[in-house]
Amino acid sequence: MRRHPVDITPLTFLDYPKKAACIFWYTGCNLRCPYCYNPELVLGHSKNQVDELAFLRERMGFLDAVVLSGGEITLQPQLKEICQDIKALGYLIKIDTNGSNPEILQDLLEHKLIDYVAMDNKMPCNRTWNLPGGDPLFGRFARCLNLLKNSGTPFEIRTTVHPGLLDEADILQMIRECENLGYSGTYYLQYFFNAGFTLGNMKPPTRRYDRQLLNRHSPLAIGYRNFPEDRGKA
Ligand code: SF4
Repeated sequence: MRRHPVDITPLTFLDYPKKAACIFWYTGCNLRCPYCYNPELVLGHSKNQVDELAFLRERMGFLDAVVLSGGEITLQPQLKEICQDIKALGYLIKIDTNGSNPEILQDLLEHKLIDYVAMDNKMPCNRTWNLPGGDPLFGRFARCLNLLKNSGTPFEIRTTVHPGLLDEADILQMIRECENLGYSGTYYLQYFFNAGFTLGNMKPPTRRYDRQLLNRHSPLAIGYRNFPEDRGKA
């Protein structure tokens, strides 16, 4: 039976570049990032079922795109059918993924079912964790990056950062690793979102990053999202 999103964000101008989009939220994830602020999605607690296609039919002509997020969207058993149904209504599709599922990503890319991908890079390769089953995440992330690079589909790489988890040297190492794998786009750093409770019960950061140092030594342009020093700026 098809699983539906447990929730919908009806409108966002921030989550799909230059498009008016909605976000469909799905449950289930194969990682347990300590900073994750969606534990109810990751752990699959929500039993809501939203009729996503009815939602989209009502908004044709008003929305451009759908963001499929979670949780880890590539774990949805009928993702291909979900994308086909959304595409049949004329919407663009972006997926947010943790880069752990190159087989599913390849299938979606080959069938031209996705138009934009935001892929997480979690840790430097020497600190990356193993997936259930024992596969190192970084190897799968590298395969996903290679697929995206060769697909012609626009994509971005991003990392959620918290100074207690990743320092400037870690971040620069991760950016260099992606550059070595052939990534040439902007590398996005997303500041830890303190939602009150996270999977790893992370405390708020006690220091700020040295952005001058990051900018000076990064081989790629860095995009900063949700950094405290930028909040309130136009
Ligand atoms: S941050 Fe993303 S990859 Fe990590 S546990 Fe949460 S949903 Fe899964």
